[in-house]
Amino acid sequence: MAQETIFSKIIRREIPADILYQDELVTAFRDIHPRAPTHILIVPNRLVATVDDVTEADELALGRLFTVAARLAREQGIASDGYRLIVNCREHGGQEVYHLHMHLLGGRPLGAMVARG
Ligand code: 5GP
Repeated sequence: MAQETIFSKIIRREIPADILYQDELVTAFRDIHPRAPTHILIVPNRLVATVDDVTEADELALGRLFTVAARLAREQGIASDGYRLIVNCREHGGQEVYHLHMHLLGGRPLGAMVARG
């Protein structure tokens, strides 16, 4: 069983976060250290540590991440200019919080997809 992270406490509203959307499958809240004018995290309510831990049972929630991302992007006024969705996996992906999440970033041109190594 994966270890809970701070995101589970945010989902249960045990610690504060700027929650923009929540339903029975996913929760979306503003990133505490925004890297762009709009930086929102969208997370499945059920703890899945990484993309490598995903199973078919998660497909509904993972699909919901995209519909909520599109909805929030429209609400935040960044849909027509465009935005980026990022899911980091483990060390080489730069994952810091081991509760799978999608970053929704926008509000300015975001530059190259990946920094040259
Ligand atoms: P990762 O690097 O795992 O893909 O992204 C984790 C993200 O979670 C980071 O952008 C970080 O700023 C954000 N984050 C970490 N702890 C908290 C927190 O307690 N509250 C919020 N709102 N964001 C957090």
